[in-house]
Amino acid sequence: MNIPKSGLPRVVIIGGGFGGVSLAKELRDQEVQVVLIDKHNYHTFQPLLYQVSTGGLEPDSIAYPLRKILQDSPNNYFRLAEVLEIKPEENSVETDIGEIGYDYLVLATGSKTNFFGNTNIEKNAMAMKTVPQSLNLRSLILENFEDALLTDDLNKREALMNFVIVGGGPTGVELAGALAEIKKGILPKDYPDLDTRIAQINLIQGSDRLLATMSEPASKKAEIFLKKLGVNVYKNMRVTDYDGYNVSTNVDDSFEAATLIWAAGVQGATIKGLNAEDIIVRGNRVKVDEFNKVIGFDNVFAIGDIAIMQSKNEPYGHPMVAQPAMQQGRHLGANILRLLSKKALVPFKYNDKGSMATVGRNKAVVDMKKFKFQGVFAWFVWMFVHLFFLIGFRNRVVVFVNWVYNYVRFDREARLIIRPYKKNKGL
Ligand SMILES: Cc1cc2nc3c(=O)[nH]c(=O)nc-3n(C[C@H](O)[C@H](O)[C@H](O)COP(=O)(O)OP(=O)(O)OC[C@H]3O[C@@H](n4cnc5c(N)ncnc54)[C@H](O)[C@@H]3O)c2cc1C
Repeated sequence: MNIPKSGLPRVVIIGGGFGGVSLAKELRDQEVQVVLIDKHNYHTFQPLLYQVSTGGLEPDSIAYPLRKILQDSPNNYFRLAEVLEIKPEENSVETDIGEIGYDYLVLATGSKTNFFGNTNIEKNAMAMKTVPQSLNLRSLILENFEDALLTDDLNKREALMNFVIVGGGPTGVELAGALAEIKKGILPKDYPDLDTRIAQINLIQGSDRLLATMSEPASKKAEIFLKKLGVNVYKNMRVTDYDGYNVSTNVDDSFEAATLIWAAGVQGATIKGLNAEDIIVRGNRVKVDEFNKVIGFDNVFAIGDIAIMQSKNEPYGHPMVAQPAMQQGRHLGANILRLLSKKALVPFKYNDKGSMATVGRNKAVVDMKKFKFQGVFAWFVWMFVHLFFLIGFRNRVVVFVNWVYNYVRFDREARLIIRPYKKNKGL
């Protein structure tokens, strides 16, 4: 892989997401050689992907070049590569650009969409886990409106303007809110010759409340906000099949929709080589101890979504969100330095700072340790927190300016079909 031997212990990090980047930053300018490998050359701020899909933000403003994060640190290397296999017995990893040895290996590969084995849904639904997927969704949404304008067949037109979002977690709720605002504020202006009242935003949740991991008041308020925006909320309903047009559910309801967005689950993005059944558990996550060390290995660690640190209080591990990934990245960095100076490792303790979701203009729900609030103030808190954690000063400025512009003008000007998406719409 053409990385010089430095005589320093080599830490190979797979994945430049929230966890991998926090770890790489922690090890900057230390007596270790850090090699960060990612299949993309940028970090993705996934919480704002839905704004890319709905034309509120340009994709570049939520991505950040990984090489820039490592700049000015002579012992840090980045390689744009996909890791194909881990060979723990050889202390090396196989990538699509060659093999690299390690002294310490850290898996920070995050998660991928979980279709729970339903291949039809996987083939026909839209996922929203990466920037390219969000751009595909943006194109599809806009192409649907263009196609709806052209057809004389009312059934087809309805299906083209029918959006089914599966999963009432923060992603589903935020996306539904954004689509409802497009229906209300943008479609009538962009398509004066189309009856945009036909457009339906359907949010389907398997359990009996939205935002099931948040407090009851947050769930209730989010549902009220969404209904006010005109979103059809279905609870205790599961989508069982989708052929690109017909949506089947476990109850009597069915839908005809050219777009089904799957936001119903994720699973760990494991890599071949560590696939022992006893360490890959529920949700395809890799079992780690309280130091993020993969069970059964001395020099292999895992952080973030891919890692499951089970305890009495957290039998299912930490939530698969950005905070545990960032905290584990920082903590593991300090522990690796302790390890190198032969000091005792410190167990990881998660500091849960709360969770939040926005439902659209002036509307958000926030659960913090001591306070729970909803409405306009929550919306300002949501914006501030997202701007704060976004990587890159330029990105923060661009996102802030876009938000102010969108707010004042009731607009989303990134509604561009830059890269047309060809989907079999079953029509
Ligand atoms: C649409 C969406 C909205 C979300 N909203 C929120 C939110 O509002 N708040 C919140 O806290 N969390 C949110 N999350 C969850 C949050 O983004 C994740 O929990 C977080 O990104 C996990 O960080 P990570 O470092 O474990 O993995 P990631 O950030 O996913 O990074 C993993 C990295 O590994 C790379 N990679 C994977 N496999 C390989 C391989 N084989 N070879 C090379 N590179 C590889 C990927 O390219 C990626 O860059 C959201 C997620 C999504 C998808």
